[in-house]
Amino acid sequence: MTHPTGWGLIGASNVAREWIIDAIRAQPGSDVRGVLSSDAGRGAAFAEANGIAYHTTSLQDLLSRPDIDAVYISTNNRLHFEQTIAAARAGKHVMCEKPLALSVDDASEMVRVCRQSNVVLGTNHHLRNAATHMAIHGLIEDGRIGGLIAARLFHANFLAAALQGWRVNDQGGGVILDSTIHDIDTLRFLFDENPVSVFAMTQSGRLAQDGIEDGIMAVLRFPGDVLVQIHGGYTTPFSPGGVEIMGERGIIIGRDCMSQRPIGTVSVRDGEGEHDIPLKHHNLYHRAFALFTAAIHGDGRPAATGEDGVASLGIALALRESARTGREIGINLP
Ligand code: NDP
Repeated sequence: MTHPTGWGLIGASNVAREWIIDAIRAQPGSDVRGVLSSDAGRGAAFAEANGIAYHTTSLQDLLSRPDIDAVYISTNNRLHFEQTIAAARAGKHVMCEKPLALSVDDASEMVRVCRQSNVVLGTNHHLRNAATHMAIHGLIEDGRIGGLIAARLFHANFLAAALQGWRVNDQGGGVILDSTIHDIDTLRFLFDENPVSVFAMTQSGRLAQDGIEDGIMAVLRFPGDVLVQIHGGYTTPFSPGGVEIMGERGIIIGRDCMSQRPIGTVSVRDGEGEHDIPLKHHNLYHRAFALFTAAIHGDGRPAATGEDGVASLGIALALRESARTGREIGINLP
């Protein structure tokens, strides 16, 4: 079904340029009508390079345009809160990048104001749209490996030089809020549960400064006494991303499945050997924006809702708290 939607971009960002403009334009009848940048020159260059007719440095001007129905927010993490609140109050639907905010209180307020303003809030946790994770979710749900016992998720790589800005020099960055938060959201999606407690140790100093973490190993306890280990980081070249889910009757193995790209394999290893699960890959962001666009036209919900964004942020902040205090942290979400 066609859902014509006019979009405004809040943030002349790398992720918008690389992935999101294309994902918006892949939706029949949707287009990007304007872009906001804090720098007029950067906004003009971004608009011209990406075929966007309108650019501005004024959030109010962007939000007052009647041809804009929804905004995609991909500015610095510190700005997501106030920009989402302003967009919702202007009646615009919001697809916001993760982390939704820097505190659970702010993120919860974003959910509350969007609800009150009758607009849809989505969180751009792209991995739950991957064919690999959708297949793993189905296998778990179907009981293919029996009751769950444990899992390992590894999502550590080397941060490209071009990305070594706010991720390694701003307290709103760091690997937990940038990347491990996606791992947390993926686990919440795979298990349909939130962890009950977490413990983490972090590294810093190889790429990130001032105590900002550039590596993490964490253990999460899920309901039913299921233990999950996560390794994340910016400093390990050549490491593949993947996940292994161990059950009473077998193991699900996802290889190369922590990527933004539609790649990776899934197999099940059990008493009869290892079998590949057939996958039909698709662009993760196309699916995220298709679901979001349908949701704002009253059909279904975003792949990751605002509430998902709050929960994944709360668990990510608990990992930080655990690393800081050396304690296991219980998860109490709003
Ligand atoms: P960028 O660093 O590319 O952009 C963030 C902000 O930095 C922009 O809004 C822009 O401000 C400013 N900026 C961009 N280029 C320059 C420059 N040359 N000089 C000065 N300032 C500049 O960030 P990312 O695209 O990497 O990330 C943006 C958001 O998206 C973050 O919240 C991140 O967590 C999230 N993200 C999500 C991904 C996903 O797959 N879900 C993937 C990657 C990032 P202005 O708009 O004012 O011009």
